[in-house]
Amino acid sequence: MNFSERLGKLAPYPFVEISRIIAAKRAAGADVVTFGIGDPDIPTPQPIIDRLLSASQDPPNHRYPETDGLPEVRRAIAHWYENRFGVTLDPDTEVLPLIGAKEGIGHAAFCFLDPGDIALVPDPAYPVYGVGTMFAGAESYVMPLYESNGWLPELDAIPTDVARAAKLMWLNYPNNPTSAVATQEDFASAIAFCRENDIALLHDAAYSEVGYDGYRPGSFLQVDGSKDMGLEFHSLSKTYNMTGWRIGMAVGNADMIKALFQIKANLDSGIPQAIQEMAMEALTGPQDCVDDNVAIYQRRRDRVLSALKVLGLSAEVPKASLYVWARVPEGYSSAELAARLLKETDIVVTPGSSYGTYGEGYIRLSLTTPDEQVEKGCQRLEAWSIPTKEG
Ligand SMILES: *Cc1c(COP(=O)(O)O)cnc(C)c1O
Repeated sequence: MNFSERLGKLAPYPFVEISRIIAAKRAAGADVVTFGIGDPDIPTPQPIIDRLLSASQDPPNHRYPETDGLPEVRRAIAHWYENRFGVTLDPDTEVLPLIGAKEGIGHAAFCFLDPGDIALVPDPAYPVYGVGTMFAGAESYVMPLYESNGWLPELDAIPTDVARAAKLMWLNYPNNPTSAVATQEDFASAIAFCRENDIALLHDAAYSEVGYDGYRPGSFLQVDGSKDMGLEFHSLSKTYNMTGWRIGMAVGNADMIKALFQIKANLDSGIPQAIQEMAMEALTGPQDCVDDNVAIYQRRRDRVLSALKVLGLSAEVPKASLYVWARVPEGYSSAELAARLLKETDIVVTPGSSYGTYGEGYIRLSLTTPDEQVEKGCQRLEAWSIPTKEG
């Protein structure tokens, strides 16, 4: 049998490999504490679950959904954007529900990229931007993100011929994995750059609702001109502890929404309607669950930061996102440190190199682990010392 070349180009998806190692360790009796994947441990709020239970009894919900979702769910998304960001969206032309943001991010590449085209992709980053680009037969031009530049791309460093040729740029703030945030001015610079070069600008805002110490991240769509050539991808996963239900959205430029709809209409048949009803409940119901979650993550963030300090690893205090991004000590690669931690303390962290070449030198610790596990893991970190490397 002959498999496609694109299949051969795929690196193992980082968390598939990590899940395998955790399962093997646990089977061998180890008490593994995981700061690995960003997958909220807190259950979906009860009113949202109740809505699923009632919606499941409604026979129309047993049939094929429409690819563009129920009109009511598109209205709920528009209503939420208006309330939260003061961004006005036409629910019929500027909103498209997704089977999770990951699905839309992967498929978006097919709207803008033909074989041989160029996409501007940050590094380190969520892997799907680059993989979607590759699936479309296009090339990623890597925009390195450096700590010295606040983990923002250096747009002036992109050669003019690359900028002129590029069809697409990906951004993601609050950022996974670095936890960096972007200001409205940062978005405005990217918009100006993309307008100048006729590039579609796609922003992934999956963590806009996880801001700490009173900080509330903005939407890219709050910035003038964004809707002329941009889409924002969002998700209910991290905001409402709904990773398992698979629902997100793309919002913004109507022509781009239409293009993504056309691709999706040929590949999927939408989101199960009972789950769309859950999203309506989440987006239009009381929002205190969001603040409650953030308070829990903020406590864990502070606990993890203090344990890292005892261990001697330095990290910025995250303003947002579910991650602490810690510097790896001299002499170690991020994968070596992660492997040592797993071997000697049964703690799982993600090596920064899983997010690209420029993630080397860092490890990512996710805060989506139950409090008592966080405490146990932190005590182990405090009791451990990083072995000095000989030679
Ligand atoms: C978790 C995550 C998503 C995925 O969201 P889903 O809606 O669960 O598919 C998208 N982008 C980033 C950066 C994420 O970390």
